[in-house]
Amino acid sequence: MSTATRQAAAEEFEPRITDLVARMTPAEKAALCAGSDFWHLYGVPRLDVPPIMVADGPYGLRKEHDGSDVDGKSEPATCFPTSSALAATWNPDLIERIGQALGDEARAGGVSVLLGPGVNIKRSPLCGRNFEYFSEDPLLAGVLGAAWIRGVQSRGVGASLKHFAANNQERRRFNIDATVDERALHEIYLTAFEHAVTQARPWTVMCAYNRLNGVHCSQHERLLTGVLRERWGFDGVVVSDWGAVDERVPALVAGLDVEMPGYGGHNDRLILDALADGSLPEAVLDRAAARVLTLIERTAQVRAGGHDYDRDAHHTLARRAAAEGTVLLKNEGGLLPLVPRGRIAVVGAFAKQPRFQGAGSAGINPHRVDDAYTRICELAGEQVAYAPGYHRDRGDVDEELLAQARATARDADVVLVFVGLTEGYETEGLDRTHLALPAAHDALVHAVTAVHERAVVVLANGAPVEMPWLRGVPAVVEGYLGGQAGGSAVADVLFGAAEPGGRLAETFPHRWEDNPTHAIPDAPAVTEYRESVYVGYRYYDSAHVDVMFPFGHGLSYTTFAYSGLTLNETVVEAGEPVEVSVTVTNTGEREGSEVVQVYVHDSASTVFRPRQELAAFAKVRLRPGQSEQVTMVLDRRAFAFYDPARRDWCVEAGQFEIRVGSSSRDIRAEALVELTGGDPAPEPVNYPLPAPGQEFDRAAFAHLYGRPLPDNTADQPGAFTLNTPLADMRSSAVTRTLQYVARRKSRQVIADPTSPMAYLVAAMLDEMPLRMLALGTRGAVGRHVQQGLLDLINGKRLLGLRRLLGSRRTGRR
Ligand code: BGC
Repeated sequence: MSTATRQAAAEEFEPRITDLVARMTPAEKAALCAGSDFWHLYGVPRLDVPPIMVADGPYGLRKEHDGSDVDGKSEPATCFPTSSALAATWNPDLIERIGQALGDEARAGGVSVLLGPGVNIKRSPLCGRNFEYFSEDPLLAGVLGAAWIRGVQSRGVGASLKHFAANNQERRRFNIDATVDERALHEIYLTAFEHAVTQARPWTVMCAYNRLNGVHCSQHERLLTGVLRERWGFDGVVVSDWGAVDERVPALVAGLDVEMPGYGGHNDRLILDALADGSLPEAVLDRAAARVLTLIERTAQVRAGGHDYDRDAHHTLARRAAAEGTVLLKNEGGLLPLVPRGRIAVVGAFAKQPRFQGAGSAGINPHRVDDAYTRICELAGEQVAYAPGYHRDRGDVDEELLAQARATARDADVVLVFVGLTEGYETEGLDRTHLALPAAHDALVHAVTAVHERAVVVLANGAPVEMPWLRGVPAVVEGYLGGQAGGSAVADVLFGAAEPGGRLAETFPHRWEDNPTHAIPDAPAVTEYRESVYVGYRYYDSAHVDVMFPFGHGLSYTTFAYSGLTLNETVVEAGEPVEVSVTVTNTGEREGSEVVQVYVHDSASTVFRPRQELAAFAKVRLRPGQSEQVTMVLDRRAFAFYDPARRDWCVEAGQFEIRVGSSSRDIRAEALVELTGGDPAPEPVNYPLPAPGQEFDRAAFAHLYGRPLPDNTADQPGAFTLNTPLADMRSSAVTRTLQYVARRKSRQVIADPTSPMAYLVAAMLDEMPLRMLALGTRGAVGRHVQQGLLDLINGKRLLGLRRLLGSRRTGRR
């Protein structure tokens, strides 16, 4: 009996749910396990089980207009700061509050499940969706994700924790095989999900598009049942990412309950056939149906109606969060906060036409957008000088605009330079290829600093960028993509009307080449996670690579001193909690907040480990002169690594260093704890770190991976499959025609090429495989037709034509 079948037999549901399932026909149960369209589940009308609606996304509600699938014109909603910005707050309470607000908006819109949060790890700063994710650190991502879920679900709306798992790049996202060793998988890529599932119990989890160690996540039984349900106790619905299902029946067996979106009942047929021929036990379908019914019941509040929310209050909350997520990266000579005296100049089109969110399925249609310029004028008490410096939607340098910006800057006492990444740089479906700003933005900073010493650079971007001009700029503010109120919030921070409450939840390297994934060759079929557990600061700190701004970094307008670090015990039985207390004092002249970070360093481990790992954190807000003792608890996991041989976490006896500080590179106090007892030591494992910029050794990785590494070549003409990305099959006229038609159709639906959806759809048309044609055609191009097209593309013309004609004749799509 498979794990999932065993699980099906063991799972218990409320008697009324079991009773409902018993009264349903197989067809009704199968229908319940797929969307009726892009955003709805069917329900069971005969038994008065209502349909429910789901909608994106992580930092706002994207509810498409009725009847439309994806037109980029969703209903107005509050665009909260993107997840990168939220993560920089390091404030779970605030994120829970935002979760409540999101839940309120979803509930008011009749949406039962909100498709977020995204807790994927920022393995590489290039990932086009990093703005939708929290951190490079799994503990931080997990704690914040849990807070988000708690907030949303407190309103009777389900969360959908996504994308499970190891979905860390957009390039070839529908098929790429994330090849991850067991330690990295557990210690880095699963931990955030584990934390969110066990601490906040989301009602749904969304499986990822990619494969994990050879198997599509949508049909990965060990992941969806073994880990998620059996280990972590998940009791909700697993929903597919949109179009992620490859084989419907194996997916159902593996633990995937709902396939989204629906393909007009196409795959229900497969389920019913499998039931009929006995290859699918009915208990498996019953189990999935029961889970969906439970979800529908859990979200009953949404259907009760009469819900509303206060737009202004949500805008105020978004503004507070944006300020709290703003990171003061550099502030030489205390240039900030600005005093509203003297002549201020603002340059950079982003000041008036802000970039405040990323593109793709998370893109929100905000009900209002604040710009920084208006608020700066308010705070300065006058109209301040302005020059755009570059074209808002183009990256190329315009010398005339630069000259104008230079002239504007020259006449001022201080210059605020607004630059960042334009929309196309950060979008679902596309990864960046470098970390540079658009040429026009770098040129603007250079132009201003050439004529002025007092320049403040204000950045709008969802992930790290290189700053070739950093030395010549006294102050840099990272505003991230701050949502609809990001403009006013960042202006508040510049003038000290709000404090820069943010700390980096990711490292900013000097150069892309410094990142551990940089030297791993790009490959068509597989991404080898050769850096293993050395992700983000775990790598930079272990390899002693100098970074531009370390993980956890962020300045304040005040200063803090740390004193009196104590542990409740210095010799502790392994597994027992260790309490870390430290006193933080505000030694400056303004009120401010500090994020106290605790890192653990294993002094002598049998297996390789990162130099230090975040084990706890707390945010405190203090008035000038005020002190507070902060106590944080380190549980067993704070000291553990994953032991693949025992398939369990292992804590070794020995000495551990507890490091407390305000970034991974700014440790203010240290203490030692001795763990006694502990688990039996595993076989020693060493994993050599390459010299910075050099490739991780493939043979060493293969050894760590423990199995032969998968073949890493693209599918070849003649042997393309339903999973081959369209872009790889362009040699065929059939593919080119398909793409042409799809492109034309998509332009009819999304007329505005700068709509957040336009970037996503353009990327999809290259990356998607034939099997996803069902998604774009609402099931009109089903498996049968796809197979016919594939035959044609593979040069089997006769077979293909026969199949296509047959499909026409029989109506089998
Ligand atoms: C994205 C998901 C999103 C879904 C629905 C997918 O393409 O990967 O994050 O929730 O679409 O829009």
